[in-house]
Amino acid sequence: MTECPTCKLSMESHSSAELMECCMKQVGDGFPAEINGICPNCKHELEKHTDVELAECTIEFLKSGLT
Ligand SMILES: [Zn+2]
Ligand SMILES: [Zn+2]
Repeated sequence: MTECPTCKLSMESHSSAELMECCMKQVGDGFPAEINGICPNCKHELEKHTDVELAECTIEFLKSGLT
């Protein structure tokens, strides 16, 4: 189980919309300013991501930043 760093519930229990919200709260200002349309995790264009992919990439990015 992966614990959501924002609300402390399991990430698996989140909907993708909830995940995005929680992830965005975690990354705060740094994330949107730096990505500039490019996913910081997989370096692909964010436009080509589905919501789920975006949430997954955000989580991966967060995990790598938290450790
Ligand atoms: Zn959460
Ligand atoms: Zn990505």
